[in-house]
Amino acid sequence: MKALVLGAGIVGITTAYELHRDGHEVTVIDREAEPAAFTSYSNAGLFAPGHAYAWSSPAAPKILLRSLWKGDQALRFKFSTDLRFWKWMWRFWGQCTPERAALNTTRKVKLCNYSMDVFHDTVARTGVQYDGRRGGLLYLYRSEAALKAAAAKSRILSDNGCRIETLDREQVAKTDPALASVKDRFAGALYAPDDESGDCRLFARNMGDWLKTQGVVFKFGTTVTGFETAGDRITAVVTDKGREDADVVVLCLGVYSPHLAKQLGHDLPIYPVKGYAITAPMAGRNNPPSIGGVDEETLVAYAPYGDRIRVTATAEFSGYANDHRPEDFATMLSTMRMLFPDGADWDAASFWAGLRPMTPEGTPILGPSKCKNLWFNTGQGHMGWTMSHGAARVTADLVAGKRPQIALDGMLAAT
Ligand SMILES: Cc1cc2nc3c(=O)[nH]c(=O)nc-3n(C[C@H](O)[C@H](O)[C@H](O)COP(=O)(O)OP(=O)(O)OC[C@H]3O[C@@H](n4cnc5c(N)ncnc54)[C@H](O)[C@@H]3O)c2cc1C
Repeated sequence: MKALVLGAGIVGITTAYELHRDGHEVTVIDREAEPAAFTSYSNAGLFAPGHAYAWSSPAAPKILLRSLWKGDQALRFKFSTDLRFWKWMWRFWGQCTPERAALNTTRKVKLCNYSMDVFHDTVARTGVQYDGRRGGLLYLYRSEAALKAAAAKSRILSDNGCRIETLDREQVAKTDPALASVKDRFAGALYAPDDESGDCRLFARNMGDWLKTQGVVFKFGTTVTGFETAGDRITAVVTDKGREDADVVVLCLGVYSPHLAKQLGHDLPIYPVKGYAITAPMAGRNNPPSIGGVDEETLVAYAPYGDRIRVTATAEFSGYANDHRPEDFATMLSTMRMLFPDGADWDAASFWAGLRPMTPEGTPILGPSKCKNLWFNTGQGHMGWTMSHGAARVTADLVAGKRPQIALDGMLAAT
């Protein structure tokens, strides 16, 4: 069939790969000039089923309210007059019970683990390079109490197939020798040996190049503005460069998905949650990290790729603006200077901000829409690099009329 993928972020690119693999004739449309030019541009790159907790938890309301008067770097929440924001927040609030948090985390981790298998298969089949690093990720805790609580909380992930080990500070230093000189700052870490990291943008761009060699067509610099429909089918996707017809359309527009889906009668609960990123060169430096991780005290994530390190932090509810100021990066830089003082050239860092397409539940929106030939694959939130490969395979299976290999409870749009 002729398939049109809307969006060339990591979700659109992986969807194009899976549809191509199934033998469809695939075209990808994006308004940017190349793949992964928006949210997928500079994420932390953690492939982290071992960190797949739902953000909506019993602790979340208190943390959100505290962020209103405390100048927190990890979570920032500003009053807004946007009705969509309040609808999203109300629904998020409803997910903050122990039962919903456990259910959403279970659904997320199952998708993440499945996605890891699909990802390994894709890399083996295509040989796409992405500066990946296996060998696990470290989730670092400063106090014994926090480490103990985190170990107890992680049982939901181990019960769903993640290997998670509790390490004391000596074991942390052995696992990543770059942390040896600061090991006394930590009580220990949770170590997920099967988690990994890699550059999402590099993967998307190399995969885009590989797909072009296989005949997939990319139409960059093309903005989708609407749809033409007849009955319950889309007859054409309307863009600023003309009409595109297709048998199958998959909508992968990240934080802009609700805007286009609204024209088809859908109210997708996706809202942007801003995050900040630093990329710094590591070449010629002493003691860069050998694997990625998260400092759970400041919620700063880091991952070494090739000759550079990526560092990210902050969940900020401030609408669709993706601007940034020097002070937005202060906690990230001070955390990195403490952990890896000479691990990278922090003075030569470049700065970025991006918008996570979050649903209140933390699970993506997949599957059929009110139009019989349009499918959703969107709303991967803070885990789009991790979830994209599995979500793409699920989407291709649904398009083919096959039963996906994981359950999709709670992930289907209301039709
Ligand atoms: C700071 C930060 C750190 C993160 N860290 C991690 C991590 O460590 N691990 C992880 O798994 N995930 C992480 N994420 C999440 C991950 O980056 C996102 O979930 C993922 O990039 C979303 O991909 P996407 O393809 O849905 O969206 P996007 O990458 O935004 O792609 C959507 C595409 O649609 C295009 N588009 C939109 N509207 C139109 C239109 N009208 N016409 C044409 N094109 C259009 C855009 O140009 C864009 O290219 C992080 C995110 C942030 C911000």
